[in-house]
Amino acid sequence: MNTVYLALGTNIEPREDHLNQALGYLQNEHITILQQSSIYETAPVGYTDQSDFLNMAVKIQTEFSPVQLLDFCQNLERKLGRKRVIRFGPRTIDLDILLYNNENIHGERLVIPHPRMHERAFVLVPLHEISPDYIIPEQGKSVEELMSELPRSDIKDVIIWKLNESAEE
Ligand code: ADP
Ligand code: MG
Repeated sequence: MNTVYLALGTNIEPREDHLNQALGYLQNEHITILQQSSIYETAPVGYTDQSDFLNMAVKIQTEFSPVQLLDFCQNLERKLGRKRVIRFGPRTIDLDILLYNNENIHGERLVIPHPRMHERAFVLVPLHEISPDYIIPEQGKSVEELMSELPRSDIKDVIIWKLNESAEE
């Protein structure tokens, strides 16, 4: 079994429904969701002329290989109606594979750890909620350390939108 972290993002309404639908499909005979972060709201980064995102991170266990998991995620993106019109543009759901065990993968379709995760507060803040001490391969730094290297203003812009009930206890 493999331990994997995924990042989910959506900025087309109904945004929460898109997250919940994706979580529903992720829980299947090949994948078990072990942990999920709260849902955060973030302003778009890069291509900024679009609506705010909801972002979250989930920890899963799966028998899928990295490429099988990428295929699964891309099928799920299509199922939820994602159209690739503008790169980094609006999407019903974006599913990124952040970490796959402790592996470093540099394939044509897949790079793991996700190459931009260490500079994205909207990825690191939700991931930090569920696994602050995880050491990112290649960086050799924990999620907590990487987060502390980001500008404070970036971190403050990632706002809890819906607290994860299990984290509330
Ligand atoms: P982004 O997530 O950066 O906004 P896309 O979701 O459109 O962009 O993904 C673009 C490409 O990134 C996909 O075709 C996929 O093959 C590739 N890719 C490379 N590494 C990963 C990864 N770790 N997780 C998901 N997609 C990845
Ligand atoms: Mg993506």
